[in-house]
Amino acid sequence: MPITLAIHGGAGNITPAMMNKQQEAEYDAGLKAALDAGYDVLKGGGNAMDAVVAAIAVLENNPIFNAGRGSVFTKKGLHEMDAAIMDGRNLAAGAVAGVRNIKNPIKLAKDVLEHSGHVLLSGSGAAEFALSRGLEMATDDYFFNKLRYDQWVKIRDSDFTQLDHEGDNLKGAATNPDYKFGTVGAVACDEQGNLAAGTSTGGMTNKRYGRVGDSPIVGAGTYANNNTCAISCTGHGEFFLRAVVAHDVACLIEYKGLTLQQACDTVIKDKLVKMGGEGGLIAVNAGGDHCFSFNSAGMYRAVRDSKGYEEIAYYG
Ligand code: ASP
Repeated sequence: MPITLAIHGGAGNITPAMMNKQQEAEYDAGLKAALDAGYDVLKGGGNAMDAVVAAIAVLENNPIFNAGRGSVFTKKGLHEMDAAIMDGRNLAAGAVAGVRNIKNPIKLAKDVLEHSGHVLLSGSGAAEFALSRGLEMATDDYFFNKLRYDQWVKIRDSDFTQLDHEGDNLKGAATNPDYKFGTVGAVACDEQGNLAAGTSTGGMTNKRYGRVGDSPIVGAGTYANNNTCAISCTGHGEFFLRAVVAHDVACLIEYKGLTLQQACDTVIKDKLVKMGGEGGLIAVNAGGDHCFSFNSAGMYRAVRDSKGYEEIAYYG
């Protein structure tokens, strides 16, 4: 059976004009390291769930991505992370929302799936569970990143403050030309034809009130079902939540018989665009096919499969 691993490092206004050679080299290396980690699991006969965790953990440890170590700052100058993982074999899912000081939220999400008896844990309860499981913690210093800090300060003092009065601070982020949705994700098809999907994020810069995006919500930012596909999304979470993006793609395949690419493009390039939502997704199916779909200028993405196909790309 074919094996495939696809990953993303976020979508957004990613254009050649906004990236220099050094940044391109950093993203190349970061995506390749994650691809290697996840694909090695699959190649060694490991399962899709473990491959997804291995790939995402590498991305979480790399500060250029908005997840784990590189998570963006909230309005209060903190880091609150969301993550989810789903097993296409049995529709089991685990997720965490608004967690702090967890080194690898994707590992906590997998523990939620396997050991909590629940699907989604949030905030202090999730932290208590993490402690009970002996998950690796990290201090605030570990998550400090000068670039992210500067991004936050810039937004805090300009667009966001202005838009707060209109009650729509996220609009400011979407119209900021520097804006990137730097969430990370992975989808895998293992040699048994089993699928898994995972997503991990620091959310949106300057978020507040315990805001949670689409990433940890099963069916919105993350979904896997062996019969249809495994999906991980990145983009303006409020729209992905309302469009129930990941599950919608699976439904188009299950109920309307669309191909993977048709289903992804219908939701990302038609439905979401009409709603005004920006972003993209990665997908695989049990035949080992993969698909990238995005309506933003670019998406950091990569794929490797057992047919010998490999791609690392950013731009549209
Ligand atoms: N979808 C994420 C969120 O809204 C952001 C991202 O993709 O970067 O929290």
